[in-house]
Amino acid sequence: MANNKLKPADSYYTDIGPIACWRPTHKPSNSGYVTIKRNGVCIQLHRFVYEQYFGLIPEGMDLHHKCETRWCCNPYHLTPVTNAENTRLGQSAKLSVTQALDIRVRAQAGNNCVAIAKEYGISSTHVYYIRDNRKWATI
Ligand SMILES: [Zn+2]
Repeated sequence: MANNKLKPADSYYTDIGPIACWRPTHKPSNSGYVTIKRNGVCIQLHRFVYEQYFGLIPEGMDLHHKCETRWCCNPYHLTPVTNAENTRLGQSAKLSVTQALDIRVRAQAGNNCVAIAKEYGISSTHVYYIRDNRKWATI
């Protein structure tokens, strides 16, 4: 469908290469996630797709969107994490585009990534990912 075409801005670099986010035809709910009904039960579409590719999500684990796009159903953009880790990662996702750009420019210029992480209240891993275009790849 024409209105469902992926745009380059949806691209995200994964461990296996640049693969765009998968935009479902279903409209996301207010939470930003897409839910479907399966055997009479509402489930999150990204969890369903992930399990089709990689098997059951370990019990009690959340799925983290490495691409920071809640509606995305590309299983390669998803990784199982503990709820605590997902919360921590979600907090770091609160960066604005301007902040992420600032982090990338400063980190790529060789500034101390740990210091930048402290300044923004995010993990140094997150700073490395931004520096290396593994997060915020579209800016
Ligand atoms: Zn994605």
